[in-house]
Amino acid sequence: MISFLDLKKINEAYATELTTAVLDVVNSGWYIRGGAVQKFENEFAEYCGVGHCIGVANGLDALTLTLRAWKELGVLAEGDEVIVPANTYIASILAITENSLTPVLVEPDPNTLNLCPVNTRAAITDKTKVILPVHLYGRAADMPAFVGLAEEFGLKILEDAAQAHGAIIEGAKVGSWGDAAGFSFYPGKNLGALGDAGAVTTNDPELANVILCLGNYGSSQKYINEYQGVNSRLDEIQAACLSVKLPHLDADTQRRREVARRYFQEIKNPHVLLPFLAEEMGSDLKHHAFHLFPVLCSDRDRFQAHLQESGVQTLIHYPIPPHKQMAFKEWNQRSVPVTEHIHQSVLSLPISPVMEHEDVAKVVEAVNAFR
Ligand SMILES: *Cc1c(COP(=O)(O)O)cnc(C)c1O
Repeated sequence: MISFLDLKKINEAYATELTTAVLDVVNSGWYIRGGAVQKFENEFAEYCGVGHCIGVANGLDALTLTLRAWKELGVLAEGDEVIVPANTYIASILAITENSLTPVLVEPDPNTLNLCPVNTRAAITDKTKVILPVHLYGRAADMPAFVGLAEEFGLKILEDAAQAHGAIIEGAKVGSWGDAAGFSFYPGKNLGALGDAGAVTTNDPELANVILCLGNYGSSQKYINEYQGVNSRLDEIQAACLSVKLPHLDADTQRRREVARRYFQEIKNPHVLLPFLAEEMGSDLKHHAFHLFPVLCSDRDRFQAHLQESGVQTLIHYPIPPHKQMAFKEWNQRSVPVTEHIHQSVLSLPISPVMEHEDVAKVVEAVNAFR
């Protein structure tokens, strides 16, 4: 069986370094917000090309605390609208509702499956304050277009970069385009910790300070509380592990792109639609970090069963769109046809930096054999 994602194999490559890093933390006697967190924050800020990185407990908190900080700074108020793609992982939307802001679900571009700038413009109202593009599946959203809209209408941009570490648009990494960006280092993400972890990147020092403070009980000085904060801190062990893996991220992403390139070249099946190859992606595929390799198939469930029988494990990202979830009962009857079509036909093929040449060949063979 070709597994969808072999996390054990991914981390095995760094086993010695990870073990040393963890032991160093054990021996340091300092476990929360010490040297390892500071080191990783500096490294990741430099990697993304931004002034500040704030480690937090997970990717959802990275998004939630950024919106919360804008509320504390008077940029946002309850009820303000945040434009978010209708087809995203539910976390992007929960960060908005958690802050009593109003998510405005916008249909994606049916080619890129990412937030559509034309639909975004049409959704802007007097109450719109933030655009929250998601670099879904690892493909960079159309940031030049969103930056243009934000300038035109005076909006903030919060990137959800949880799936796209290292993707590059016009020479700049995701995470450096918006006013801020949220990253997740959940173990299965392209840069994965050995547990939960996340970070915000930004060039705004004031925002960075408020987020840091909010995630630390609203306190920047021990026992002095400026805000009613929460506990959301990146811990030393996870930070130390992330510092081990970050220097290898670009090579890992290149391996993902090699797998993708082979899928693009070798998969030939009229029933299976491959990800859209936009011209600006170029032959280097730089603007895609290929966290996932989603294909579309109108007979998706039978396709998935066929692959399973052929020894290829696949997953659906995602089986139920946010507006159809029980958590958002008030949206269940809404018609969001492009998003619903994607959710009904999308299937993620295995892709990872540790896939062997023969594994890719087996996936291609199984996909091409589907009738
Ligand atoms: C994983 C993910 C998140 C949340 O990250 P966690 O670390 O699991 O909280 C947010 N948005 C998207 C698009 C994700 O894929």
